Amino acid sequence: GSGERRPLAAANWKMNHTSIEAAAFLEALDPGDSSCDIWIAPPATLLPGMKAIIERRNLPVTLCAQDVHEKENGAHTGEISAAMLKDAGAEAVLVGHSERREQGEGAERLQAKAEQAAAHGLRILYCIGESEAEYSAGLTKQVLARQLEAVRNIPANLLDIAYEPVWAIGTGRAAGKEDAQEIHAFIRLEVQRHFPDQSGAVRIVYGGSVKPENASGYADGADIDGALVGGASLHAESFQSIIHAFQ
Ligand code: PGA
Repeated sequence: GSGERRPLAAANWKMNHTSIEAAAFLEALDPGDSSCDIWIAPPATLLPGMKAIIERRNLPVTLCAQDVHEKENGAHTGEISAAMLKDAGAEAVLVGHSERREQGEGAERLQAKAEQAAAHGLRILYCIGESEAEYSAGLTKQVLARQLEAVRNIPANLLDIAYEPVWAIGTGRAAGKEDAQEIHAFIRLEVQRHFPDQSGAVRIVYGGSVKPENASGYADGADIDGALVGGASLHAESFQSIIHAFQ
């Protein structure tokens, strides 16, 4: 991080944890000082219960949903609207995680999701990243620039970006810190192009096999404003070491 933006440590629990496990996690979590924003993205079912605990214990934790539907309401069995997420306690939402892109969510749908979230005042952590094949073919920057187009209409003050190379997610093969910094610097330029006056508000965090052991390397990167953490965010002890690396 450069000190210009508040760092962000975000936990993506994916399809893990029940209410008892979530309560134990919040009980054990030591948030440290207040210099780093802490977000947790649990399964939607956990949002109201976690919100109650966070308020009762006055924890500096922002709840983030993992996905949002692009429509306001209606005949969309199994889906959850932006208004419902806010009602359940979420203040932010992930859009474009690679595990959702793999399920067929393309640029148009992700743009609609981001715009719907923004219309309800939810912050957006927009996830981008190249596949292994794109990486090997040298297409990384091209892919990222294209993926960023989907959020060009989102107000910069509601937007953060997570750079997650798909080949690094859940594989233990984290991107090297210099390579990550180089890509973040590229994303920063793209963000400046999209939001000439307000690009300073947009954080760019790294995701993909972030662990307590490698987090401080990323924190050194001038354009790396935090981390989006999957596996290592499931236990309070490892997630808090990552938080502390960005404080
Ligand atoms: P990982 O997941 O930390 O387990 O690699 C990151 C993510 O998918 O957001």
